This record gives sequence, structure tokens and C-alpha cells, in this order.
Amino acid sequence: MRIDLHAHSNVSDGTQTPAALIAAAALARLDVVALTDHDSTDGWAEALAAARELGVGLIPGMEISCKTSQGVSVHLLCYLHDPGNVKLLEEITKAKDARLTRAERMVERLAEDYPLNWGDVSAHVAPGATIGRPHIADAMVAAGIVADRSEAFANILTSHSRYFVSHYAPDPVLAVELVRAAGGVPVFAHPMASARGRVAPPDVFHDMIDAGLLGLEVDHRDNPAEGRAWLRGLARDRGLLVTGSSDYHGAGKPNLLGENLTEPAALERIMEQASGTAAYLP
Ligand code: AMP
Ligand code: FE
Ligand code: FE
Ligand code: ZN
Repeated sequence: MRIDLHAHSNVSDGTQTPAALIAAAALARLDVVALTDHDSTDGWAEALAAARELGVGLIPGMEISCKTSQGVSVHLLCYLHDPGNVKLLEEITKAKDARLTRAERMVERLAEDYPLNWGDVSAHVAPGATIGRPHIADAMVAAGIVADRSEAFANILTSHSRYFVSHYAPDPVLAVELVRAAGGVPVFAHPMASARGRVAPPDVFHDMIDAGLLGLEVDHRDNPAEGRAWLRGLARDRGLLVTGSSDYHGAGKPNLLGENLTEPAALERIMEQASGTAAYLP
């Protein structure tokens, strides 16, 4: 079984429609793919229709951007939650709205030094999609300022950059609680991705586990080897499952579907504990 539990469509910062993502998953010979757009479930219906048509297993999911009280960015994957759950929906709507204001403010700052305006950026955002820095990067590529998203993130768009603006994001412990209350299963995404910024200290992991975190995304290209070893030890000590995934973003990142995979037993455990939405397995 080839199972990849982390992929994005243009409902957030991926470059393909949900249907095209499922077609790409079929081409990559995946048996199961999870659609995990940032702070949105708007792609689920289209992905499900394509999954049925192409015979690809689909785990509807989402990736929630969170921030600790110390300002550390944490991404929380969640699977099979009820997309209509009011409390979770309120929280991600608040974050989505804040992302829009934040993107506008970043573009204002960038426009002082680069030939870039809001229209250039919004042209790269699908209607209703969750906006993020990758869309600003796409506009910078189109304007010839950088060659690709990676170059944009290498300095201009990093969290250390003077153009960077932060946005509201829920505390990861709250997000874990909300996901569980919505019948979903929470998994910590790329927990050791140190190249993106500060990683969460151990007490944040333990607080999230106490709140109901079920798994750690260990096999992800952004987790260095030492970090993975620590994560495996933690998973063993605290009875967590481990996942592996690509974090595919279409043409927006070099990550390829299926470059890391999740064991069937881990997916089974996720499905056993979820009660918000059904998985589709052909
Ligand atoms: P934001 O949601 O606005 O904070 O932007 C973070 C998103 O940017 C993440 O979801 C990543 O997918 C993407 N990202 C981070 N680093 C890079 C990079 N080096 N190249 C391309 N995309 C990146
Ligand atoms: Fe992303
Ligand atoms: Fe992420
Ligand atoms: Zn992701």
C-alpha cells in the first residue's frame, strides 16, 4: 500500500485543482492520498468526486497553522473531522481572514522595494482559497524578481525578513482540542522543520499529546535525521503513531507525491479514532 497523508491543492497554496491533484496521485501510483489544504476543507467535494472516478483512496483532511504563546509556528494536520463543526470552523475562519489582512500588509511593504502590487498577488489566488506567502512568491516569480518559490522563501519571505508580517493563529493545544471535538484525528506536521524557523520545545509536544495528539509526521523531507530519531523516541514513549508524507504542492515545491509513505497500520489507527467524516477507500 502506498499511502501519502499530506498534499495541497489550489484551495490553499498548491498549484493544482483538487481533481488534478487526485489525477496526479493516481499517476504516482498512490493507493491513498490525504488532501490537507491550509485552514480549508473547500476542496473535499471535488477531490472525492475525482477519487471515486479514478479509484484513488481519499482521506479528507486539513493543515491548521498554529502559534504557541512563545511565538513558535506549529502546523497541525487533522484527518476526517466534521467540516461543519462550528467551533473549529470559527477558528479557521478567523485565521483565514487574518491571513488576508496579513498578505495585504506584506505586499504593501514589498511594494516599497519591488515592482509588485496587490493585483499581481491576487491573480495567483484561486477564488476563496486560503492565501499564504506562496501566492506572494508566485507573483514575484511572474514579475521576474525571483526564479521560483524556494528562492523567494530563501530570504525575502522568511519569518526573519523585514517584509514579514505574522497573522492570528490558534494555540496548538487549542487546535488539538478543537480537532478532537470535531471527531478528527490530529497529527503534528513536520515537527522538526528547523529551516522554516524555531521548532517547538518538548513541553509543547507533551501538552499537545495530553490534549489528544495522536501522531507525529516523522518522515517528511524538512525533518533532519537527528530530529527524526528524537521524534521516534517520543512516539515510542508516548504511544503515538508515526506518519510519512510528501507535503506535495504541485509545481510550487520540489516535493513529489509518494516521496515518503505511511504504514497501513497507522492509517487504520487514524480511521478507528475518527468519527467526523468517512474516508473513501475503493
Ligand atoms: P504561510 O502559510 O503564509 O505562513 O506560508 C507558509 C507556506 O509556505 C507553507 O505552507 C509552505 O508550504 C510554504 N513554504 C515554506 N517554505 C517554502 C519554500 N522554501 N519553498 C516553497 N514553499 C515554501
Ligand atoms: Fe503550504
Ligand atoms: Fe506545513
Ligand atoms: Zn503542508
